Amino acid sequence: MTRVLGVDVGGTNTKVVRMDATGAIEHRSSLKTKGDEGPESFVARLVDHVSPICAGVTAMGLAVAALVRHDGSLQQAPNLKKFEGFDLQGELARALAFEHMAVENDVNAALLGEVRLGAARGAGHAAMLSLGTGVGGGLFIDGRLVRGHSGTAAEIGHTILDPEGPPCPCGDRGHVEAYLSAQAISRRASERLAQVTGPSRLSHHLEQAGAMSPRVISAAAHDGDALALEVVAESGYWLGLACVNVVHMFNPEVVVLGGGVAGLGEPLLDAARATLHERGMPGPVAAMRLVLAELGSEGAAKGAAVLALDSFNGAGIRPIA
Ligand SMILES: [Zn+2]
Repeated sequence: MTRVLGVDVGGTNTKVVRMDATGAIEHRSSLKTKGDEGPESFVARLVDHVSPICAGVTAMGLAVAALVRHDGSLQQAPNLKKFEGFDLQGELARALAFEHMAVENDVNAALLGEVRLGAARGAGHAAMLSLGTGVGGGLFIDGRLVRGHSGTAAEIGHTILDPEGPPCPCGDRGHVEAYLSAQAISRRASERLAQVTGPSRLSHHLEQAGAMSPRVISAAAHDGDALALEVVAESGYWLGLACVNVVHMFNPEVVVLGGGVAGLGEPLLDAARATLHERGMPGPVAAMRLVLAELGSEGAAKGAAVLALDSFNGAGIRPIA
């Protein structure tokens, strides 16, 4: 039976899964990425890590937190600076004698995972927003991932919601990421909290956790804290606007929400749905669903494995040059 490896190379950790042709996971493990030590050192450690689990494996898919060119080389990787320009696919192909090697942006891979195995199962037209440290996007339209002219399509996180809006880590202003990253939402909650006096459920959860985070806001909202609920509703409003833009442009049947901020759950989605209905075109909005990702933190690794499986029928192939 065909067996493949899916590897999700993140800024801190690298996750590895081995998948059979039915999509079942036979093995899962992880190693530290140690991006500061450079990509050559990473390739050597990854090869050592996967060698004992390679029996019967014929392909590997890689998901990387980077913009990926069509030839598989990495262009922009804010959390893996030393990997920029490196031919990760080629170097691994030389070290591991698999039939196929494929590399993809991590959110694109996570979306592919959700389309085949998760919340968007069976969809021909899907989009993903991954709300975490940054905001990543993925598009799967007309049955395939949308990669664009130079491989950087679907950067939904850096589309503009308000040209005069708050600064975005990319250097511009008012982008989706400036409203919906974990830091942006946490900052909003901290600013609101500073304006009120006296204890609240939000200040209680903040004190226990030590730092503001979507998890703290979610816990306080769950307790009915008015300020936390307000922050969730406002975040849902911005998410809804981001989704309106995606829906008007791509007419997906499902938009999948992933990343740590998705932990705000259904209250966030409900607020986004209300904005979608208020500000979106009725036809395409009625035809789409906004849902939470199902594959969790393993989504990108599983999607990378799906990419490797696809390499045998050409569906998602980026063959070794
Ligand atoms: Zn930006």
